Amino acid sequence: MKILVSNDDGIYSPGIKALANAMAQIADEVIIVAPDVEQSATSSALTLRRPLRYKATKLSNIAANIKAFRVDGTPADCVILGVHNEGRPDLIVAGINLGPNLGYDVIYSGTVAAATEGTTMGIASIAFSIGLDDDDINFEFAKEYAKKTALHVLEHGLASRTLLNVNFPAKKPLGLKLCRQSTHQWDDNVVQRKDPEGKDYYWISGKPIGTDEKDADYHIVKSGYVSVSPLHLDMTEYKTLKKLEILMNE
Ligand code: MN
Repeated sequence: MKILVSNDDGIYSPGIKALANAMAQIADEVIIVAPDVEQSATSSALTLRRPLRYKATKLSNIAANIKAFRVDGTPADCVILGVHNEGRPDLIVAGINLGPNLGYDVIYSGTVAAATEGTTMGIASIAFSIGLDDDDINFEFAKEYAKKTALHVLEHGLASRTLLNVNFPAKKPLGLKLCRQSTHQWDDNVVQRKDPEGKDYYWISGKPIGTDEKDADYHIVKSGYVSVSPLHLDMTEYKTLKKLEILMNE
């Protein structure tokens, strides 16, 4: 049993150590392949116009059955190189991201993208994220839920083109709820300032808006539960497709 672990916060993030150590309790072989620096919000970007390096890396406080490699690229690069160099794993897990990936966050998330990349290869994949506000993060409960989720997927598999997006509250969860993706997004705010030479520069920031959709990921994590949402790579909107067929016949 082999599990590949990646993330977008970088190989030195405490979140990836927590996830790899949790996976090391259920798999013989755990391989971390992660970016050398933070790559949050890079989504599925690939590095195509420069060489990539793949370097064995010593990490402290990791289980004996974990090997680690760092890549000077994106999360999707890491998954591609990890599978190329280490062979196909039984499972790919990404995270645990420091901060949530809820609602429209999944479009931008490098954590979700690592799982997406695995899914495009036909490998069962799960993205894990933790925290909603700036609470103190407790990985111990998250690790138990991560193991439980991974064991379920290893036993039952996932439907084709389907990944799981799992979000943990920062503190001890009240339980686990299956749910849909919400419409949570950020109010994009562009800060415009002058650089030391008097030229304009821009900084995209924003605040999370949140939603109160009771059956969807944001509200469930906000209420203190672990959210588990299956995501599908077929983004076709079938109702609109049907409507457009009428257009074709007019
Ligand atoms: Mn991140």
